[in-house]
Amino acid sequence: MENFNYFMPTKMMFGSDVVKRELGNINLGKKALIVTGKTSAKLCGALDDVLQALNGEYAIFDQVGNNPTVENVLQGGKFARENSCDYVIAIGGGSPLDAAKVIAILAVNDVHPLDLYKSGWQNEALPIIAIPTTSGTGSEVTQYAVLTIEESETKKGLGGPDLFPKVAFLDPEYTDSLPLQITIDTAVDALSHLIEGYFSKRSTAASDLVALQGISLWGTAISALREGNLNRDIRRNLLLASSLGGITIAQTGTTLVHALGYSLTYYHGYPHGRANGVLFAEYLRYTAGVALEKVQTVLDLLGLSSVDEFADVMNDLFSDYAGKLGLSETMINSYVKKAMQTKNVGNSLGNPSAKELTRILEAIV
Ligand code: NAP
Ligand code: FE
Repeated sequence: MENFNYFMPTKMMFGSDVVKRELGNINLGKKALIVTGKTSAKLCGALDDVLQALNGEYAIFDQVGNNPTVENVLQGGKFARENSCDYVIAIGGGSPLDAAKVIAILAVNDVHPLDLYKSGWQNEALPIIAIPTTSGTGSEVTQYAVLTIEESETKKGLGGPDLFPKVAFLDPEYTDSLPLQITIDTAVDALSHLIEGYFSKRSTAASDLVALQGISLWGTAISALREGNLNRDIRRNLLLASSLGGITIAQTGTTLVHALGYSLTYYHGYPHGRANGVLFAEYLRYTAGVALEKVQTVLDLLGLSSVDEFADVMNDLFSDYAGKLGLSETMINSYVKKAMQTKNVGNSLGNPSAKELTRILEAIV
């Protein structure tokens, strides 16, 4: 067996009402900075539960937008420093969770966020508690944060061991209020972490165990997602699958799907999971050419018989969006060029060239 490391320092607490039961027992300091998006943390009940269970003082920054920008975290960092907080409670989808991680750095490092990409940071980020309200990014158990970088017209991740949340509270009931399309978009992001992690050159025996279990759990949700009929059990499976996806990519990174998807989000406004979703079947077709057995394993676990059947699932889930991007040759060349500069493409099996990435985009125009 090959040598590998496995590091996942986040304490996960999973279950109904887990915030109300357990948050009061966690001691990370006197004053909390609560970071959320504009509405959903209130809508789903997570913010109320936090405020009810919290013993000490707090300040709230609730201005995180979707696909958070450099400006957004700059503002949050200033707020954090002015309010001298000891730790951060992040509530929301991946956008607030990722923004909270960068804000946790900026709270104790008065630097420009873009400098973090160039030179890292000196003081360890404030400790973070993460409470996901989507079943998608797995950010509650990863060391990554992704920001939209206007000056390079793309999204870019940064990472560090101090960005792993200390605690992740996972209550599937917070995802009950998700509209169907956001449920689908985010669920497909989770699936892409599980599959890209399994197909990553950096996958290990331990990350595979997690990824394969997550893929099979995700498979239980396929008909519910197709029919738009989500019950508690399915929402529970999706939240768990999403965290298993996070645990996977914390070890393996993501691959070419995420690298190409960033341009579909930046230039076409496709939410992150949907961007991955419209690329997904072509990615499986590409990977079948270089690692057929792995693709077969994934299809078996999902209960699907072929890549074509997988493509049918994605087409059903994204019927209003698949094949509707209107990609021109110039766009394709530019997105491929950006993707080729990322580490994610380097993680992909078969060392895909610009030509292969071009073929994938040409197939989804
Ligand atoms: P999101 O951008 O956080 O949220 C999407 C929308 O869903 C927002 O309008 C949000 O409302 C709403 N929402 C969230 N929870 C809800 C709930 N329970 N009920 C109703 N509405 C709810 O979406 P996301 O897909 O979870 O996160 C995407 C971001 O994560 C991207 O920036 C992506 O690049 C990043 N990402 C990070 C990692 C990582 O490892 N760190 C991995 C993959 C992706 P509000 O605006 O009110 O919150
Ligand atoms: Fe993702």
